[in-house]
Amino acid sequence: MRILIVEDEQKTADYLSRGLGESGYAVEVVRDGYDAQHYIEEYEFDLIILDVMLPGLDGWQLLQMVRQRSQVPVLFLTARDAVEYRVKGLELGADDYLVKPFSFVELLARVRTLLRRSPPREREHFRVADLAMDVLRRRVTRQGERLALTNKEFALLELFLDREGEVLSRTYIASRVWQMNFDSDTNVVEVAVRRLRAKVDDPFPTKLIHTERGMGYVLEDRS
Ligand code: CA
Repeated sequence: MRILIVEDEQKTADYLSRGLGESGYAVEVVRDGYDAQHYIEEYEFDLIILDVMLPGLDGWQLLQMVRQRSQVPVLFLTARDAVEYRVKGLELGADDYLVKPFSFVELLARVRTLLRRSPPREREHFRVADLAMDVLRRRVTRQGERLALTNKEFALLELFLDREGEVLSRTYIASRVWQMNFDSDTNVVEVAVRRLRAKVDDPFPTKLIHTERGMGYVLEDRS
């Protein structure tokens, strides 16, 4: 479970990050609104903890941005126990809030509840053109012919199928398939895509994985 903490106050950020880390969550901390925007656009999280008052973009702007993209649970932190703040946050699509100062026990209880509430139901079958994937049986076929994929190739193809028609950036793919962070070498993605294509596309007339120059890759049937 990956949690993004957006909090400019060093002490609170450290406290949250240490506590959640010790509770077994993978935590990323960012300290201003623009960094937060970058993380939200490039990576997937299971939960976002969002401070309202931030340098750069504030928590409200970030919350609107998050809601345009996904239904990831958002817990916002506010220093003020003002009713209009809570109402605003919930109206903008936050799932819950905590008023500072809060106890870690209370935070952890909220976090657990929010993560339980959003089990991302993963798909079990995909089909695009003559390509089919049975996720539970770990089986991929094209034209009915079984393809032998490694675990990483399977995970990569599953990601492409799940996001069929969407251009996925190399950094995004790296974060999803390799859980690699930020600014890591994305050559590994290029190599993996090449290998996947050699199995999935090269032997067949209809190509499904396409390169979008400067942007990333997309899987779709363009025939
Ligand atoms: Ca703040």
